[in-house]
Amino acid sequence: MFQRVALSKEARLAQVSVSLAQVDWYCIPLCWESSQLTSKGRVQKSTERQHIARIILAIWDVIVIGVGGVGSATAMHLAKTGVRTLGIDQYHAAHDRGSSHGQTRIIRQAYFEHPCYVPLLQRAYELWDDLEQKSNKRLFHRTGLVELGPTDGVVIPGVQSSAAAYDLPIEKLTSLDIHHRWPGIKGENHWEAIVELNAGFLKVEECVQTHLDLASRYGCKLVHNCSVRQWSSDSREVKVVTDSGTEKAAKLVIAGGPWTRSLLPELSTKLQIFRKHQYWFQPENPGYREQDGFPCFFHETDRGFFYGFPCFNGKGVKIARHSGGQPIDTPDPEAANSQIIDQHDRQLVLEYASKYLPGLGSQLTCSANCYYTSTPDENFVIDQLPGHQNVTVIAGLSGHGFKFVSALGEIASQLALDLTMPFDLAPFAIERFE
Ligand SMILES: Cc1cc2nc3c(=O)[nH]c(=O)nc-3n(C[C@H](O)[C@H](O)[C@H](O)COP(=O)(O)OP(=O)(O)OC[C@H]3O[C@@H](n4cnc5c(N)ncnc54)[C@H](O)[C@@H]3O)c2cc1C
Repeated sequence: MFQRVALSKEARLAQVSVSLAQVDWYCIPLCWESSQLTSKGRVQKSTERQHIARIILAIWDVIVIGVGGVGSATAMHLAKTGVRTLGIDQYHAAHDRGSSHGQTRIIRQAYFEHPCYVPLLQRAYELWDDLEQKSNKRLFHRTGLVELGPTDGVVIPGVQSSAAAYDLPIEKLTSLDIHHRWPGIKGENHWEAIVELNAGFLKVEECVQTHLDLASRYGCKLVHNCSVRQWSSDSREVKVVTDSGTEKAAKLVIAGGPWTRSLLPELSTKLQIFRKHQYWFQPENPGYREQDGFPCFFHETDRGFFYGFPCFNGKGVKIARHSGGQPIDTPDPEAANSQIIDQHDRQLVLEYASKYLPGLGSQLTCSANCYYTSTPDENFVIDQLPGHQNVTVIAGLSGHGFKFVSALGEIASQLALDLTMPFDLAPFAIERFE
Protein backbone atom coordinates (compact mmCIF):
# COMPACT_ATOMS: atom_id res chain seq x y z
CA MET A 1 0.00 0.00 0.00
CA PHE A 2 2.44 2.67 -1.19
CA GLN A 3 1.22 6.13 -2.06
CA ARG A 4 3.46 8.94 -3.21
CA VAL A 5 2.71 12.20 -1.39
CA ALA A 6 3.85 15.61 -2.65
CA LEU A 7 5.38 18.03 -0.20
CA SER A 8 2.51 20.18 0.99
CA LYS A 9 2.20 23.36 2.96
CA GLU A 10 1.04 21.23 5.91
CA ALA A 11 4.14 19.13 5.72
CA ARG A 12 6.33 22.19 5.76
CA LEU A 13 4.41 23.46 8.77
CA ALA A 14 4.90 20.27 10.71
CA GLN A 15 7.65 21.06 13.17
CA VAL A 16 9.75 18.02 12.47
CA SER A 17 13.27 18.08 11.15
CA VAL A 18 13.37 16.23 7.84
CA SER A 19 15.62 16.83 4.87
CA LEU A 20 14.19 17.76 1.49
CA ALA A 21 15.90 14.82 -0.11
CA GLN A 22 13.96 12.46 2.10
CA VAL A 23 10.62 14.18 1.72
CA ASP A 24 10.98 14.03 -2.01
CA TRP A 25 11.47 10.32 -1.64
CA TYR A 26 9.06 9.14 0.99
CA CYS A 27 5.85 7.15 0.74
CA ILE A 28 2.97 6.49 3.10
CA PRO A 29 4.18 4.02 5.75
CA LEU A 30 3.22 0.39 5.43
CA CYS A 31 1.35 0.57 8.73
CA TRP A 32 -1.23 3.01 7.39
CA GLU A 33 -4.75 1.67 7.30
CA SER A 34 -6.60 1.78 4.00
CA SER A 35 -9.53 3.50 5.70
CA GLN A 36 -7.37 6.59 5.88
CA LEU A 37 -7.41 6.88 2.11
CA THR A 38 -10.26 7.72 -0.21
CA SER A 39 -11.13 5.33 -3.00
CA LYS A 40 -8.91 7.43 -5.28
CA GLY A 41 -5.99 6.85 -2.95
CA ARG A 42 -5.92 10.47 -1.75
CA VAL A 43 -5.61 11.33 1.91
CA GLN A 44 -8.94 12.75 3.17
CA LYS A 45 -8.90 16.52 3.28
CA SER A 46 -10.27 16.90 6.82
CA THR A 47 -7.44 14.94 8.39
CA GLU A 48 -4.74 15.69 5.84
CA ARG A 49 -2.58 17.78 8.11
CA GLN A 50 -2.66 15.26 10.93
CA HIS A 51 -1.89 12.40 8.54
CA ILE A 52 1.01 14.17 6.93
CA ALA A 53 2.45 14.92 10.35
CA ARG A 54 2.21 11.20 11.09
CA ILE A 55 3.94 10.36 7.84
CA ILE A 56 6.82 12.61 8.71
CA LEU A 57 7.06 11.39 12.28
CA ALA A 58 7.22 7.77 11.17
CA ILE A 59 9.06 8.24 7.94
CA TRP A 60 11.26 5.15 8.07
CA ASP A 61 10.36 1.59 8.87
CA VAL A 62 13.95 0.77 9.83
CA ILE A 63 17.13 2.81 10.32
CA VAL A 64 20.47 1.02 10.08
CA ILE A 65 23.37 2.71 11.91
CA GLY A 66 26.61 1.78 10.17
CA VAL A 67 26.59 0.45 6.61
CA GLY A 68 29.97 -1.26 6.61
CA GLY A 69 30.18 -5.05 6.39
CA VAL A 70 27.06 -6.09 8.32
CA GLY A 71 25.05 -2.91 7.85
CA SER A 72 25.36 -2.86 4.05
CA ALA A 73 23.97 -6.41 3.88
CA THR A 74 21.24 -5.55 6.41
CA ALA A 75 20.17 -2.51 4.41
CA MET A 76 20.00 -4.64 1.27
CA HIS A 77 17.88 -7.36 2.86
CA LEU A 78 15.50 -4.87 4.46
CA ALA A 79 15.05 -2.86 1.28
CA LYS A 80 14.51 -6.06 -0.72
CA THR A 81 11.48 -6.89 1.43
CA GLY A 82 9.99 -3.49 0.59
CA VAL A 83 10.36 -1.78 3.95
CA ARG A 84 11.47 1.84 3.93
CA THR A 85 15.07 1.73 5.07
CA LEU A 86 17.56 4.46 5.90
CA GLY A 87 21.24 3.49 6.20
CA ILE A 88 23.60 6.00 7.81
CA ASP A 89 27.38 5.90 7.89
CA GLN A 90 29.96 8.33 9.20
CA TYR A 91 32.32 7.65 6.27
CA HIS A 92 32.10 7.09 2.54
CA ALA A 93 30.94 3.81 1.01
CA ALA A 94 33.30 0.83 1.46
CA HIS A 95 35.80 2.98 3.39
CA ASP A 96 39.08 1.87 4.97
CA ARG A 97 38.63 3.21 8.53
CA GLY A 98 36.82 0.32 10.20
CA SER A 99 36.90 -3.47 9.97
CA SER A 100 35.95 -4.20 6.34
CA HIS A 101 38.92 -3.29 4.15
CA GLY A 102 42.23 -4.75 3.01
CA GLN A 103 41.30 -6.47 -0.25
CA THR A 104 40.42 -9.98 1.01
CA ARG A 105 38.76 -12.05 3.75
CA ILE A 106 38.95 -15.83 4.19
CA ILE A 107 35.71 -17.76 3.89
CA ARG A 108 35.40 -21.38 5.01
CA GLN A 109 32.72 -23.75 6.32
CA ALA A 110 34.44 -26.45 8.42
CA TYR A 111 34.55 -23.98 11.27
CA PHE A 112 37.19 -24.78 13.91
CA GLU A 113 35.74 -22.16 16.27
CA HIS A 114 32.49 -24.13 16.85
CA PRO A 115 30.07 -26.26 14.82
CA CYS A 116 27.20 -23.94 15.83
CA TYR A 117 28.45 -21.53 13.15
CA VAL A 118 28.07 -24.01 10.28
CA PRO A 119 24.33 -23.49 9.58
CA LEU A 120 24.95 -19.75 9.40
CA LEU A 121 27.84 -20.35 7.01
CA GLN A 122 25.76 -22.61 4.80
CA ARG A 123 23.23 -19.81 4.49
CA ALA A 124 26.05 -17.27 3.99
CA TYR A 125 27.39 -19.32 1.07
CA GLU A 126 23.93 -19.38 -0.56
CA LEU A 127 23.59 -15.65 -0.13
CA TRP A 128 27.08 -14.86 -1.48
CA ASP A 129 26.20 -16.92 -4.56
CA ASP A 130 22.93 -15.05 -4.83
CA LEU A 131 24.70 -11.68 -4.52
CA GLU A 132 27.13 -12.65 -7.27
CA GLN A 133 24.26 -13.62 -9.54
CA LYS A 134 22.23 -10.49 -8.86
CA SER A 135 25.21 -8.18 -9.32
CA ASN A 136 26.90 -10.16 -12.06
CA LYS A 137 30.20 -9.79 -10.17
CA ARG A 138 32.73 -12.32 -8.95
CA LEU A 139 33.10 -11.73 -5.21
CA PHE A 140 34.04 -15.19 -3.89
CA HIS A 141 37.25 -16.79 -5.18
CA ARG A 142 37.20 -20.51 -4.36
CA THR A 143 40.95 -21.01 -4.06
CA GLY A 144 40.64 -23.65 -1.35
CA LEU A 145 42.17 -23.31 2.13
CA VAL A 146 45.00 -25.28 3.76
CA GLU A 147 44.93 -25.41 7.56
CA LEU A 148 47.96 -26.76 9.41
CA GLY A 149 48.62 -27.36 13.08
CA PRO A 150 49.17 -29.87 15.86
CA THR A 151 46.69 -32.73 16.18
CA ASP A 152 45.97 -31.75 19.77
CA GLY A 153 45.66 -28.04 18.98
CA VAL A 154 42.57 -25.91 18.33
CA VAL A 155 42.37 -25.77 14.55
CA ILE A 156 42.79 -29.35 13.33
CA PRO A 157 40.42 -30.98 15.87
CA GLY A 158 37.96 -28.08 15.47
CA VAL A 159 37.83 -28.36 11.68
CA GLN A 160 37.32 -32.12 11.95
CA SER A 161 34.53 -31.77 14.44
CA SER A 162 32.55 -29.25 12.34
CA ALA A 163 33.16 -31.26 9.17
CA ALA A 164 31.96 -34.46 10.88
CA ALA A 165 28.87 -32.80 12.39
CA TYR A 166 27.73 -31.41 9.03
CA ASP A 167 29.27 -33.90 6.62
CA LEU A 168 31.44 -31.25 4.99
CA PRO A 169 34.03 -32.35 2.43
CA ILE A 170 37.61 -31.99 3.69
CA GLU A 171 40.85 -33.72 2.79
CA LYS A 172 43.24 -34.83 5.56
CA LEU A 173 46.94 -34.76 4.75
CA THR A 174 50.31 -34.46 6.43
CA SER A 175 52.43 -31.31 6.42
CA LEU A 176 54.82 -33.06 4.04
CA ASP A 177 51.99 -33.82 1.59
CA ILE A 178 51.09 -30.13 1.61
CA HIS A 179 54.66 -29.04 0.94
CA HIS A 180 54.80 -31.53 -1.89
CA ARG A 181 51.63 -30.16 -3.47
CA TRP A 182 52.41 -26.48 -2.82
CA PRO A 183 56.17 -26.00 -2.30
CA GLY A 184 55.43 -22.46 -1.10
CA ILE A 185 53.82 -23.72 2.15
CA LYS A 186 55.10 -25.94 4.89
CA GLY A 187 54.39 -26.94 8.47
CA GLU A 188 56.12 -28.81 11.26
CA ASN A 189 56.68 -32.48 10.39
CA HIS A 190 54.52 -33.72 13.26
CA TRP A 191 51.57 -31.48 12.32
CA GLU A 192 48.48 -32.49 10.39
CA ALA A 193 46.93 -30.57 7.55
CA ILE A 194 43.40 -30.23 6.22
CA VAL A 195 42.40 -28.94 2.81
CA GLU A 196 38.93 -27.43 2.39
CA LEU A 197 38.42 -27.00 -1.33
CA ASN A 198 35.10 -25.20 -0.94
CA ALA A 199 36.84 -22.36 0.91
CA GLY A 200 38.59 -19.29 -0.44
CA PHE A 201 38.42 -15.54 -0.15
CA LEU A 202 35.92 -12.71 -0.54
CA LYS A 203 36.84 -9.36 -2.05
CA VAL A 204 35.94 -7.39 1.02
CA GLU A 205 35.41 -3.83 -0.22
CA GLU A 206 33.66 -5.05 -3.34
CA CYS A 207 31.25 -7.12 -1.22
CA VAL A 208 30.36 -4.04 0.85
CA GLN A 209 29.95 -1.88 -2.26
CA THR A 210 27.81 -4.52 -3.96
CA HIS A 211 25.47 -4.82 -0.97
CA LEU A 212 25.18 -1.02 -0.95
CA ASP A 213 24.51 -0.85 -4.69
CA LEU A 214 21.74 -3.42 -4.43
CA ALA A 215 20.32 -1.78 -1.32
CA SER A 216 20.01 1.46 -3.31
CA ARG A 217 18.54 -0.38 -6.25
CA TYR A 218 15.86 -1.84 -3.94
CA GLY A 219 14.98 1.65 -2.69
CA CYS A 220 17.10 2.05 0.44
CA LYS A 221 18.15 5.61 1.22
CA LEU A 222 21.86 5.69 2.07
CA VAL A 223 23.43 8.69 3.77
CA HIS A 224 27.24 8.72 3.97
CA ASN A 225 29.68 11.04 5.73
CA CYS A 226 27.08 11.64 8.43
CA SER A 227 27.66 10.59 12.05
CA VAL A 228 25.03 9.33 14.43
CA ARG A 229 25.49 11.31 17.64
CA GLN A 230 22.87 9.59 19.75
CA TRP A 231 19.79 7.45 19.55
CA SER A 232 16.85 6.63 21.82
CA SER A 233 13.88 4.30 21.72
CA ASP A 234 10.57 3.82 23.44
CA SER A 235 7.83 1.30 22.80
CA ARG A 236 6.52 3.27 19.79
CA GLU A 237 9.56 4.42 17.86
CA VAL A 238 13.27 5.03 17.69
CA LYS A 239 14.89 8.43 17.30
CA VAL A 240 18.33 8.88 15.79
CA VAL A 241 20.18 12.20 16.05
CA THR A 242 22.75 12.73 13.32
CA ASP A 243 25.04 15.54 12.17
CA SER A 244 22.28 16.74 9.89
CA GLY A 245 19.11 16.31 11.92
CA THR A 246 16.81 13.83 13.62
CA GLU A 247 15.35 10.73 12.00
CA LYS A 248 12.60 8.51 13.34
CA ALA A 249 11.65 4.94 12.58
CA ALA A 250 9.74 1.98 13.91
CA LYS A 251 12.90 -0.11 14.26
CA LEU A 252 16.65 0.34 14.56
CA VAL A 253 19.57 -1.91 13.65
CA ILE A 254 22.96 -1.05 15.15
CA ALA A 255 25.88 -2.40 13.11
CA GLY A 256 28.62 -0.03 14.25
CA GLY A 257 31.58 -2.45 14.13
CA PRO A 258 34.49 -1.09 16.20
CA TRP A 259 32.44 1.99 17.19
CA THR A 260 29.73 -0.11 18.88
CA ARG A 261 31.04 0.75 22.34
CA SER A 262 30.12 4.40 21.92
CA LEU A 263 26.74 3.55 20.36
CA LEU A 264 25.95 1.00 23.07
CA PRO A 265 27.74 1.95 26.31
CA GLU A 266 25.94 -0.89 28.11
CA LEU A 267 27.93 -3.37 25.99
CA SER A 268 31.25 -1.55 26.21
CA THR A 269 32.77 -3.72 28.93
CA LYS A 270 32.04 -6.80 26.80
CA LEU A 271 33.72 -5.47 23.66
CA GLN A 272 37.48 -5.05 23.34
CA ILE A 273 38.83 -3.30 20.25
CA PHE A 274 42.17 -4.48 18.87
CA ARG A 275 44.21 -2.70 16.23
CA LYS A 276 45.39 -5.33 13.77
CA HIS A 277 47.80 -5.25 10.85
CA GLN A 278 47.75 -6.79 7.38
CA TYR A 279 50.99 -7.12 5.32
CA TRP A 280 51.62 -7.66 1.60
CA PHE A 281 54.77 -9.41 0.38
CA GLN A 282 56.11 -9.57 -3.18
CA PRO A 283 57.21 -13.24 -3.47
CA GLU A 284 60.76 -14.07 -4.47
CA ASN A 285 59.81 -17.44 -5.95
CA PRO A 286 57.01 -18.20 -8.42
CA GLY A 287 53.96 -20.27 -7.51
CA TYR A 288 52.24 -17.94 -5.02
CA ARG A 289 49.61 -16.52 -7.37
CA GLU A 290 45.95 -17.42 -7.42
CA GLN A 291 46.29 -18.44 -11.08
CA ASP A 292 49.08 -20.88 -10.07
CA GLY A 293 46.51 -22.68 -7.92
CA PHE A 294 47.99 -21.34 -4.67
CA PRO A 295 45.40 -21.56 -1.85
CA CYS A 296 44.61 -19.50 1.21
CA PHE A 297 46.46 -20.80 4.30
CA PHE A 298 46.08 -20.82 8.07
CA HIS A 299 48.74 -22.03 10.52
CA GLU A 300 48.31 -22.74 14.22
CA THR A 301 51.86 -22.23 15.53
CA ASP A 302 53.38 -22.07 19.00
CA ARG A 303 53.40 -18.27 18.50
CA GLY A 304 49.72 -18.04 17.65
CA PHE A 305 47.48 -18.15 14.57
CA PHE A 306 48.73 -16.73 11.25
CA TYR A 307 47.00 -16.80 7.88
CA GLY A 308 47.22 -15.48 4.37
CA PHE A 309 46.11 -15.30 0.76
CA PRO A 310 47.63 -15.99 -2.67
CA CYS A 311 48.87 -13.07 -4.79
CA PHE A 312 45.83 -11.43 -6.22
CA ASN A 313 45.49 -8.38 -8.46
CA GLY A 314 49.27 -7.95 -8.42
CA LYS A 315 49.35 -6.75 -4.81
CA GLY A 316 51.32 -9.68 -3.44
CA VAL A 317 50.74 -12.36 -0.80
CA LYS A 318 48.79 -10.94 2.13
CA ILE A 319 49.65 -12.24 5.61
CA ALA A 320 48.25 -11.37 9.04
CA ARG A 321 48.38 -12.58 12.60
CA HIS A 322 44.96 -13.59 13.90
CA SER A 323 46.20 -13.73 17.51
CA GLY A 324 47.25 -10.68 19.46
CA GLY A 325 46.71 -7.07 18.43
CA GLN A 326 46.96 -3.75 20.24
CA PRO A 327 44.04 -3.15 22.63
CA ILE A 328 42.61 0.34 22.10
CA ASP A 329 39.56 2.23 23.38
CA THR A 330 38.21 3.52 20.11
CA PRO A 331 39.35 3.58 16.47
CA ASP A 332 41.43 6.59 15.56
CA PRO A 333 39.99 7.89 12.27
CA GLU A 334 43.24 9.55 11.27
CA ALA A 335 45.36 6.51 11.97
CA ALA A 336 43.02 3.83 10.71
CA ASN A 337 44.75 3.07 7.48
CA SER A 338 47.96 4.95 7.97
CA GLN A 339 51.28 3.34 8.45
CA ILE A 340 51.04 2.86 12.22
CA ILE A 341 53.64 0.20 12.78
CA ASP A 342 53.60 -2.48 15.43
CA GLN A 343 57.23 -3.63 15.36
CA HIS A 344 56.53 -6.72 17.47
CA ASP A 345 53.67 -7.83 15.21
CA ARG A 346 55.70 -7.16 12.08
CA GLN A 347 58.64 -9.14 13.43
CA LEU A 348 56.40 -12.10 14.29
CA VAL A 349 54.89 -12.04 10.79
CA LEU A 350 58.34 -11.90 9.15
CA GLU A 351 59.54 -14.83 11.24
CA TYR A 352 56.37 -16.78 10.46
CA ALA A 353 56.80 -16.13 6.74
CA SER A 354 60.41 -17.19 6.68
CA LYS A 355 59.63 -20.40 8.57
CA TYR A 356 56.40 -21.56 6.95
CA LEU A 357 56.31 -19.87 3.52
CA PRO A 358 59.64 -20.86 1.95
CA GLY A 359 60.24 -18.88 -1.21
CA LEU A 360 58.18 -15.88 -0.20
CA GLY A 361 61.12 -13.80 0.98
CA SER A 362 60.91 -10.66 3.08
CA GLN A 363 60.03 -8.02 0.51
CA LEU A 364 57.25 -6.32 2.44
CA THR A 365 55.57 -3.89 0.05
CA CYS A 366 52.74 -2.40 2.12
CA SER A 367 50.62 -2.80 5.21
CA ALA A 368 47.26 -1.61 6.51
CA ASN A 369 45.58 -1.36 9.88
CA CYS A 370 42.13 -2.66 10.71
CA TYR A 371 40.09 -3.38 13.85
CA TYR A 372 38.79 -6.46 15.61
CA THR A 373 35.87 -5.99 18.05
CA SER A 374 36.14 -8.99 20.35
CA THR A 375 33.78 -10.41 22.96
CA PRO A 376 35.13 -12.33 25.98
CA ASP A 377 34.28 -15.70 24.37
CA GLU A 378 35.00 -14.49 20.81
CA ASN A 379 31.47 -15.38 19.75
CA PHE A 380 29.27 -12.83 18.00
CA VAL A 381 26.48 -10.72 19.46
CA ILE A 382 23.30 -11.19 17.40
CA ASP A 383 20.31 -10.09 19.44
CA GLN A 384 17.63 -7.58 20.24
CA LEU A 385 18.84 -5.15 22.86
CA PRO A 386 17.39 -6.08 26.27
CA GLY A 387 14.77 -3.51 27.25
CA HIS A 388 14.58 -2.21 23.66
CA GLN A 389 12.76 -4.79 21.59
CA ASN A 390 12.77 -2.50 18.56
CA VAL A 391 16.59 -2.34 18.53
CA THR A 392 18.64 -5.12 16.90
CA VAL A 393 22.37 -5.37 17.53
CA ILE A 394 24.99 -7.20 15.49
CA ALA A 395 28.40 -6.69 17.09
CA GLY A 396 31.50 -8.31 18.53
CA LEU A 397 32.39 -10.25 15.40
CA SER A 398 35.75 -10.93 17.06
CA GLY A 399 37.86 -10.86 13.93
CA HIS A 400 36.08 -13.67 12.11
CA GLY A 401 32.81 -12.14 10.97
CA PHE A 402 33.13 -11.04 7.37
CA LYS A 403 32.41 -14.42 5.77
CA PHE A 404 29.03 -14.35 7.62
CA VAL A 405 28.05 -10.86 6.58
CA SER A 406 25.65 -11.94 3.83
CA ALA A 407 23.73 -14.11 6.34
CA LEU A 408 24.03 -11.63 9.21
CA GLY A 409 22.35 -9.00 7.06
CA GLU A 410 19.44 -11.34 6.45
CA ILE A 411 19.26 -12.29 10.15
CA ALA A 412 19.34 -8.65 11.25
CA SER A 413 16.49 -7.87 8.88
CA GLN A 414 14.49 -10.85 10.22
CA LEU A 415 15.06 -9.73 13.82
CA ALA A 416 14.12 -6.15 13.00
CA LEU A 417 10.93 -7.23 11.26
CA ASP A 418 10.04 -9.81 13.96
CA LEU A 419 10.05 -12.61 11.39
CA THR A 420 10.50 -16.29 12.22
CA MET A 421 14.16 -16.98 12.91
CA PRO A 422 15.47 -20.11 11.16
CA PHE A 423 18.63 -20.26 13.32
CA ASP A 424 19.36 -20.94 16.96
CA LEU A 425 20.77 -17.62 18.12
CA ALA A 426 21.16 -18.62 21.80
CA PRO A 427 25.01 -18.78 21.57
CA PHE A 428 24.99 -15.17 20.40
CA ALA A 429 22.59 -13.71 22.98
CA ILE A 430 23.59 -10.68 25.02
CA GLU A 431 22.35 -12.32 28.21
CA ARG A 432 25.17 -14.89 28.07
CA PHE A 433 27.45 -12.19 29.49
CA GLU A 434 25.38 -11.81 32.67
C1 LIG B 1 42.81 -7.43 9.65
C2 LIG B 1 41.49 -8.14 9.67
C3 LIG B 1 41.39 -9.38 9.07
C4 LIG B 1 40.20 -10.08 9.08
N1 LIG B 1 40.11 -11.28 8.43
C5 LIG B 1 38.92 -11.92 8.36
C6 LIG B 1 38.80 -13.09 7.57
O1 LIG B 1 39.74 -13.53 6.92
N2 LIG B 1 37.56 -13.67 7.49
C7 LIG B 1 36.49 -13.19 8.16
O2 LIG B 1 35.42 -13.78 8.06
N3 LIG B 1 36.58 -12.06 8.91
C8 LIG B 1 37.76 -11.42 9.03
N4 LIG B 1 37.88 -10.26 9.75
C9 LIG B 1 36.73 -9.78 10.50
C10 LIG B 1 35.74 -9.03 9.64
O3 LIG B 1 36.40 -8.26 8.67
C11 LIG B 1 34.88 -8.16 10.54
O4 LIG B 1 34.27 -9.01 11.52
C12 LIG B 1 33.78 -7.45 9.78
O5 LIG B 1 34.30 -6.81 8.65
C13 LIG B 1 33.10 -6.46 10.70
O6 LIG B 1 32.07 -5.78 10.01
P1 LIG B 1 31.20 -4.70 10.78
O7 LIG B 1 30.06 -4.37 9.91
O8 LIG B 1 30.94 -5.17 12.17
O9 LIG B 1 32.17 -3.43 10.94
P2 LIG B 1 32.50 -2.28 9.83
O10 LIG B 1 32.60 -2.88 8.48
O11 LIG B 1 33.66 -1.51 10.36
O12 LIG B 1 31.19 -1.41 9.84
C14 LIG B 1 30.81 -0.56 10.89
C15 LIG B 1 30.29 0.70 10.24
O13 LIG B 1 29.60 1.48 11.19
C16 LIG B 1 29.88 2.83 10.90
N5 LIG B 1 29.61 3.60 12.11
C17 LIG B 1 30.03 3.32 13.36
N6 LIG B 1 29.60 4.25 14.23
C18 LIG B 1 28.87 5.14 13.51
C19 LIG B 1 28.19 6.33 13.85
N7 LIG B 1 28.15 6.80 15.11
N8 LIG B 1 27.56 6.99 12.88
C20 LIG B 1 27.57 6.54 11.59
N9 LIG B 1 28.23 5.42 11.23
C21 LIG B 1 28.86 4.73 12.17
C22 LIG B 1 31.34 2.82 10.50
O14 LIG B 1 31.73 3.97 9.78
C23 LIG B 1 31.41 1.54 9.69
O15 LIG B 1 31.21 1.77 8.31
C24 LIG B 1 39.06 -9.54 9.74
C25 LIG B 1 39.16 -8.28 10.36
C26 LIG B 1 40.36 -7.58 10.32
C27 LIG B 1 40.43 -6.24 10.97
